[in-house]
Amino acid sequence: LSFNSARFMVSASRLDECPPDYGAEVAFAGRSNAGKSSAINTITANGKLARTSKTPGRTRLINFFSLNRENCRLVDLPGYGYAKVSRDMKDDWQQHLGHYLNDRRCLRGLVLVMDIRHPLTDFDRMMVEWCQHNNLPLMILATKSDKLKFGQAKTAMQDIGRRLKEFSCVHHLIMFSATSKQGVDECRAALTAWLEA
Ligand code: GDP
Repeated sequence: LSFNSARFMVSASRLDECPPDYGAEVAFAGRSNAGKSSAINTITANGKLARTSKTPGRTRLINFFSLNRENCRLVDLPGYGYAKVSRDMKDDWQQHLGHYLNDRRCLRGLVLVMDIRHPLTDFDRMMVEWCQHNNLPLMILATKSDKLKFGQAKTAMQDIGRRLKEFSCVHHLIMFSATSKQGVDECRAALTAWLEA
């Protein structure tokens, strides 16, 4: 499986616009600005695959990227948590994401992207609990590790690990940086194992 060959397939704003529900998918979730688009771009070595600079409300869609193996896909879920979005848009977001997460049978795992300096927000916790409840393997990317000194980053990872100890759904906790490429190989290996299983 090669991530470098990822191609944009389709944006879906409703479940019935998603590609057929077979094969294997891994979805990326995260709070807005956590670094999700940058992580996807880094993993696929494609600086433009997931748009990085975004306008609130313009990334409500679920984006699908195909890989070089038939019916293997990466999925970019809408970022959560712009303070300025309207109530309606928040409802919309929850609906889309809820439908996707609850109904998608080919979903093999979830990658939760969080800023290593602001880990485990309420949104992140909600996602962890959801994965635990639904037995969905979870990979946590603690990104922007380049923003911390090595010792601080290590302490932050230990702290995250401690806070997630009771959650057996967490299969991978990876220190990551789109800037320094730390953790990219480990992340690709874990994604490959999920998608090829
Ligand atoms: P998204 O909203 O979660 O998709 O976040 P983006 O990928 O658009 O990133 C938000 C901001 O954080 C942008 O200004 C990025 O350049 C920056 N950023 C993302 N990842 C990293 C990283 O690993 N290191 C550093 N230093 N900045 C990052």
